[in-house]
Amino acid sequence: MSEVKLKPCAKCGGEGKLTVELPDKEVLMVVGELPQDRWCYVDCQKCYYGTNIFNTPEEAVEAWNRLDEVLCVRPKNEQE
Ligand SMILES: [Zn+2]
Repeated sequence: MSEVKLKPCAKCGGEGKLTVELPDKEVLMVVGELPQDRWCYVDCQKCYYGTNIFNTPEEAVEAWNRLDEVLCVRPKNEQE
């Protein structure tokens, strides 16, 4: 799993980017070989539209491509 296909952003058509974050280290890296504890998400490089946080990159990509579990990751004003 070296390459992932991301659809364009549902909101602005911008580029989606998969991010894998290691919570204890605050390390950002692209998909590769990864340890267990991690947060995976996809967000738009333009409008900050993004997915929820998942355990695996595959789930994050799937959610992004499905476009039904995406949300705005930039807190606007405490939505609902
Ligand atoms: Zn966007």
